Amino acid sequence: MQLAKHGGFDITVVAKHMPGDYDIEYTSPWAGANVLPMSVEKGSRWERRTWPVLKQLAKEVPDAGIHLQIARVYRLAKDEATDFKGPLDDSLFAADPWYKSLMDDFRELPSSEFPHAGVRSGCEFQSACINTAIYLPWLVSQCLKRGVVFKRAVLKHISEATGMSHTGKKADIVINASGVLASRLGGVMDTSVRPARGQIVVVRNEAPNNMMTTSGCDDTDEEIVYSMTRAAGGGTVLGGTYQIDNWDANPDPNIAIRIMKRAVELHPELTGGRGIEALSIIRHGVGVRPYRKAGVRIEKEKIDGTWVIHNYGHAGWGYQGSYGCAEAVVDLVGEVIAELKPVKRQSKL
Ligand SMILES: Cc1cc2nc3c(=O)[nH]c(=O)nc-3n(C[C@H](O)[C@H](O)[C@H](O)COP(=O)(O)OP(=O)(O)OC[C@H]3O[C@@H](n4cnc5c(N)ncnc54)[C@H](O)[C@@H]3O)c2cc1C
Repeated sequence: MQLAKHGGFDITVVAKHMPGDYDIEYTSPWAGANVLPMSVEKGSRWERRTWPVLKQLAKEVPDAGIHLQIARVYRLAKDEATDFKGPLDDSLFAADPWYKSLMDDFRELPSSEFPHAGVRSGCEFQSACINTAIYLPWLVSQCLKRGVVFKRAVLKHISEATGMSHTGKKADIVINASGVLASRLGGVMDTSVRPARGQIVVVRNEAPNNMMTTSGCDDTDEEIVYSMTRAAGGGTVLGGTYQIDNWDANPDPNIAIRIMKRAVELHPELTGGRGIEALSIIRHGVGVRPYRKAGVRIEKEKIDGTWVIHNYGHAGWGYQGSYGCAEAVVDLVGEVIAELKPVKRQSKL
């Protein structure tokens, strides 16, 4: 969308899956999605550049399906020995987080506001929740009205994209945004991209101040605790898991029970104190985050004579870093254009 907004390009989006689809190979619809800064300060550019845009969308563009919500982050006493690193080893739970200057209304919580005795400390700040069922089609509509053409296709090799421009001419630049499938796409085959399975339960129940997360849980290191209520009747998302190298698309009923139990224990208001039996389930779901140990890959590479700009490997922060990463891609396109002049068209995968 950022390239389409920039103007001056013929853009074709080529994809196996599109907004509206739910498939284990297509991550985006499964996300909560909210904004809980995860990067360390040094790598925080993507999140820093994205938050103001998401905030503005939440305030000014109701049809994007994003609303502001207060997020609560609890650091558990049991995780103090590991500096509250959390199962993802990120800086969300840091005792003195860099993002306190980024997120509005940041405050450390007094102990009187802790949900249970196992909490050592906690903070809250203004965040946002993105209803992906509304936001993804909204992104498509923003592109369509700027002349972007969408095509369904399954590519075996990234170089096939050069022949898929709707202009009928060979594309000058290909943008590779293939997510977790970057591990299987010919010409890319980045096996360092691994699935990090996220199981969720979406329920009809809503409660105020329901966006929250904890630094760990007592059940296993592969399970995490979070919840958020989506805008515009999107229900409340309860999570979750972070199971690396697990492609299982089927919701595990035992995990589902643990997810619901932990969510209701942390926030009993969700069912008015009536336990998990009073949760009204919309659906169980599983998505896989495109985890890459070395972090996101945003760089250009010449493959079979065509410039390819990679933008994949966003793990669990693809939304909250999206505009920052898109900005970097637009910059790289500018670099390639300077080299290619004149540019006639562009494809995106
Ligand atoms: C349970 C869960 C919770 C999450 N929560 C959050 C959150 O709260 N906040 C946040 O910011 N992020 C969250 N994320 C992470 C976020 O969803 C991802 O980082 C992001 O969606 C990745 O987007 P992507 O476009 O790179 O990949 P995808 O959404 O998977 O899109 C990849 C696209 O490439 C296409 N493609 C790939 N290979 C080919 C091929 N060979 N031929 C044709 N097309 C191809 C696919 O069809 C698809 O259209 C969560 C993820 C999960 C699973």
